[in-house]
Amino acid sequence: MITFKDLNLSKQLLRALDDIGFENPTPIQEKAFPIISSGTDAVGIAQTGTGKTFAYLLPILRQLTYSEQRQPRVLIVVPTRELVAQVVGEIEKLTKYMNVRCYGVYGASNINTQKQKVYDGLDILVATPGRLIDLTLSRTLQLGSVKKLVIDEVDEMLNLGFRAQLTQILDILPPKRQTLLFSATLNEDVELMISKYFNKPEYIELISRGTPLEKIIQHAYFVPNFNTKINLLKWLLHKEKGFSKVLLFVKSKKIADDISLALEEDFPTEIGVIHSNKSQPQRFSAVKYFDEGVHRLLIATDVIARGLDIPNVTHVVNFDIPKEASAYIHRIGRTGRADKAGNSISFITDLEKPLQVAIETLMNKKIPILKLPKGLEISDELTKDEIPVTRDKNLGKAKKLVIPTGAFHEKKDKNKKEQLGGKRSQEKLRRLKVKYISKRKF
Ligand code: AMP
Repeated sequence: MITFKDLNLSKQLLRALDDIGFENPTPIQEKAFPIISSGTDAVGIAQTGTGKTFAYLLPILRQLTYSEQRQPRVLIVVPTRELVAQVVGEIEKLTKYMNVRCYGVYGASNINTQKQKVYDGLDILVATPGRLIDLTLSRTLQLGSVKKLVIDEVDEMLNLGFRAQLTQILDILPPKRQTLLFSATLNEDVELMISKYFNKPEYIELISRGTPLEKIIQHAYFVPNFNTKINLLKWLLHKEKGFSKVLLFVKSKKIADDISLALEEDFPTEIGVIHSNKSQPQRFSAVKYFDEGVHRLLIATDVIARGLDIPNVTHVVNFDIPKEASAYIHRIGRTGRADKAGNSISFITDLEKPLQVAIETLMNKKIPILKLPKGLEISDELTKDEIPVTRDKNLGKAKKLVIPTGAFHEKKDKNKKEQLGGKRSQEKLRRLKVKYISKRKF
C-alpha cells in the first residue's frame, strides 16, 4: 500500500497530513495525483466519501507558489453554502504550514464583507455559482488570473438549475487554464458540458456508474402513508439498535418541518432540521449539533445535504424516495464513509414503488424489504397530499378529493367548507372515503 510520502508532496503538506492522521492516499487520491499534477483537464467520477476533495486539493496545493497577487489563481465552485464551508475547512487543514490565502463566498450573507475579503487578496476562492457571479459583476472580483478551476458536484449543480451560471463562469474565465470536474454520476448533461468546455480531459473513474458503495447495508419497508411513516420512524428511534447518528432525507422543506413537529413530543431535544428556508446560522448549527452528537437525528432536504461530510453517520433514512434514482445513491453515500460500514433504510409507499424499481435498475441490485415491526400502528389517516386526485365530470378538471379524516394537516374550517362543496359532492366524498380509506393489512 502506498503512503502519501510516495506522492511527491511538499514537506508542509506531509506535515499537515500527519497532523490530520492520514497516512495512505485513497484510491482516487492515488490515481488523480499524477493526472492533475500534469496540468491536463480531468474529469473525476467519484462519490463523496471516496476522498475526492483531497484528490484535487493535494496536487493543486503542491503546485501553488507563494504570491502577493490579489486576484485568485484557483477557483473552486460548489453547489451549496455548506460545501463551501467544508472545502474551505479542508484547505485550512492542509495549508496549516503554508502561506495560502483562502476564502469562501456564498449567497444570503453579507456581500460587502466578502467584497472586502476579495479586495484584500486571495489565492484560492471557494464559491457557489450565484454569489461568484454577483461578485464578478460588481467588479470586485476578477477572474482573469484563474489558472485552475474545479467544479465539484457538477451533476448536482445542473440538477439545481445552475447551468446558466456555470456556463457564464466558464465563458468569462481565461481559456488557458486547467479545468477539473467532479461528479458522482456521468449523465448526458454533464457529458455535454465536458465536450464543450474541456480540452481532451483524462477520466478518473473509480466506481462504475450508479453502483452504491458496497459497504452500505440497504433495507426498505413498504409503508402505506405519511402517518405510518412517522410511526415507523418513532419506532426506529425508540427501538432500533445503534440508531445513534441518523440522517433523514425528505423531498421538501414542508415535509421536513412536518416531521420535526410530529417528533417534537417524543424527542424534544434530539432532532435537528436543515433546509434552505433556515437562516445560515441555523443551518451551520444544525450540522454542528448533529456532527457533535447533540442531535441524534438530522432531517434534511436533498439540496442541503449534498456533499456534506459528516463522519460516523450510522443510518441514512429515506423518508421518501427521490424522483431521480441517482439522488438515492447520493443520499445513502452519506453513511459508510471513509471505510466505515453504514446502513440505509427506505420507506416506500405504493406510489413510490416505480421509483424503487428505477433505483434497483440503476444499481442492478434489489433492496431487501423488511416486514413492518410487530405492533407498529398502521395509520389510515391520509395527509392532504396523499388524497387521490379524481376527475370531476362536470368540470372535466382534475380535482383533489378532500376527505375530512382529521388527517395530519387539518384544514381550517373555512377552507373545509369551500372544498367540500354541496350536499351531493359531500355524499360522493363520503362514498369515496369509504373506498379509499380502508384499513390495510401487512
Ligand atoms: P470526500 O469524499 O472528499 O468528501 O471525503 C470523505 C472523507 O474521507 C472525509 O472525512 C475526509 O476527511 C476523509 N479522507 C480523505 N482522504 C483520506 C485519507 N487519505 N485517509 C482517510 N480518510 C480520508
